[in-house]
Amino acid sequence: MICIGIESSAHTIGVGVADGAKVLANERSTYKPKYTGIHPRKAADFLSKEFEPVLERAIEKSNVELGEIELIAFTMGPGLGACLKIGLVGAKMLSQVLGTPILGVNHALAHIEIARTLCGCRNPLVVYVSGGNTQIIVPEGKKYRVMGETLDIGLGNLIDSIGRSMGLKHAHGSVIEELAKKGNYFPLPYSVKGMDLVFTGLLTDAQNSLKTHSKEDVCYSLQETAFSMLAEATERALALTKRRELILCGGVAQNTRLQEMLRQMAKPHGCRLSVTEGQFNADNGAMIAVTANLMYKAGVRTKLSECRAVQKLRVDEAEIRW
Ligand code: MG
Repeated sequence: MICIGIESSAHTIGVGVADGAKVLANERSTYKPKYTGIHPRKAADFLSKEFEPVLERAIEKSNVELGEIELIAFTMGPGLGACLKIGLVGAKMLSQVLGTPILGVNHALAHIEIARTLCGCRNPLVVYVSGGNTQIIVPEGKKYRVMGETLDIGLGNLIDSIGRSMGLKHAHGSVIEELAKKGNYFPLPYSVKGMDLVFTGLLTDAQNSLKTHSKEDVCYSLQETAFSMLAEATERALALTKRRELILCGGVAQNTRLQEMLRQMAKPHGCRLSVTEGQFNADNGAMIAVTANLMYKAGVRTKLSECRAVQKLRVDEAEIRW
C-alpha cells in the first residue's frame, strides 16, 4: 500500500513515500546550527517551516496522486518533544484530510527495518549507531533484544562534540572522518563493560588532548578507539548469537572507517556486513513509510486519539509481528 512517512525526531524533517518496500520518494531538510548542538525550539521552528516544501517535493517526486495514498505514518519517538510534535500534527492533519488510517512508528525500529529490508537480511545482528543511540541488537521472538549499548552518550554525539570543541562551523561526522584520514594514533581511554560501552571519559580526554595534539591526530585516535570498542562488543555478541548477517544502520553507519572495521571483524566469523545507502541511514521519511507498511500488513493499528509524541522510547518496547 502507498504510505507517506514523516520523520521529525531531531534536526531533520523527512517525508518519504513508499509502496510496500519500494521507496518512491525520500525528501528531507536538515537544521544545521553553527558551532552549537541542537536547540529543541529552534530545531522545531525550522522543521515546521520546512514541512510543507519537503512534503510537496516528496509527493511530486513520487508521482502519486493524493487520492492514491492509503496510509499516513509518523515518528512517535524517541526524540525531542518539540520536534516530534511537528510530525505528529502534520500526520494527523493529513490523515484527516485524506481520510486514511494513521500509524505511529518507533524511530529506532524504523532505522533497523529499512536497513533489513533494503539489504535483504532475514535474521541479522544489528549495530545501530546515531547521535543519541549506540546499540547492539538482535531479533528474538516477537521483540528486538538489546544485547549491548552505550551507558552514557551515543557515538554520533561523541563525534559531534569533539567537532564542536575544535570550533568546527558544522561539526558533522563526515568532517571528522576526513580529518582522521590525515592523523596518527595516540592512546585514549578505552571502556568496554561486557557488551556495553562508555564514551564520556574518552570524550573528555580527547578534548584535553586538543591542547597538545593536532586536530587530525585527535580525530583519528578518537575514531580508532571508539570504533574498536564497538567492534569488540559486537564481536562478543556475534560469537554468542552466531549470526551470518550483520547490519550497520543509523546516521553514523555512513562512516566508512567504521564499516571497514566491522567488516574485518565479522569476516572470520563467516558473517557478512551489510550497509544500505546513506540517504536511508540518515534520519529520513522513507524508513517510517517502509516500516509502517510492515506494521499495517501485520495488523498494527493506531487510533487518532492515541497518537502522541513519546520522547523516551526504546527499540525493545516495539512488538515485531512480521
Ligand atoms: Mg535516527
